[in-house]
Amino acid sequence: MNYKQKIREWTDEETWKKFSVDFLNDMGWQAYEISGNLGICDYNGTRYLVSFRHNINGGAIGTKLEKNITDRIKKHNAEGFIGFYSGNYTTSLLERLTSMQVNFKLFNGSRITTFIPFTHSNIIDTYFGSGIKGHHLIPANYYINLNDESSYKPLKCMCGCNADILDPLNITNSMVLIHRCNNFIFLYYGLKHCINGIDDNTECGWLEISQVLHPDQFIEWNQSIRIFLKNNLGLNTSEFYKYKRIFTMRIMQRIRSVNGGLFSRLA
Ligand SMILES: [Zn+2]
Repeated sequence: MNYKQKIREWTDEETWKKFSVDFLNDMGWQAYEISGNLGICDYNGTRYLVSFRHNINGGAIGTKLEKNITDRIKKHNAEGFIGFYSGNYTTSLLERLTSMQVNFKLFNGSRITTFIPFTHSNIIDTYFGSGIKGHHLIPANYYINLNDESSYKPLKCMCGCNADILDPLNITNSMVLIHRCNNFIFLYYGLKHCINGIDDNTECGWLEISQVLHPDQFIEWNQSIRIFLKNNLGLNTSEFYKYKRIFTMRIMQRIRSVNGGLFSRLA
């Protein structure tokens, strides 16, 4: 996904401000809006005044726009300054802040967009979701990784109800689980209410389909299956693999892009 391009299309300051606050919070910097284009951010025990500016389609932010910084910091009982800009800032602004000897951080659009792939996928879905929307209360951005959408193949609930669990409206209501019965191992996927009676009695557990569509989660889950099978040699896996192959092929149609955000934050 080209985040910079998408940010260029935001015509209002409001979207930039909301995104900035969510982004900073996701990065562990407690931020909130105060008024106008200003916010407050607490990071590592320092209180920063944040100036949000959506200048990606305009000129660089310099000392003419960011003036009286010391007074503004004092007025808001802050100790530092953060410039959070969708475009660039000037060297003179950087020099001014350096000479002031205050705690400061400047972010430009290039730096910010480098970090976006490491934010929670909810942020990406909320601000960059251009894919198919699912449930209206859940921000989601479901992809379709096919050149020709008519070649799409549904992944039908294994209970036989005929529901496509990769339908955007079903994704968050669907799951996949691994079940062991004596020496046999099975894979079940379907709508939660259809298959949640089946015991996920292995250490691989169960996953929501929205989770498994994150590449990092899919890789981890496969790893846990490999370890489980290695520790339980001799299990009959023929039925398991038959459905695992179908499952993998079909979910690839909707798997998120590798820069599409993380399901869980890196510790
Ligand atoms: Zn079903």
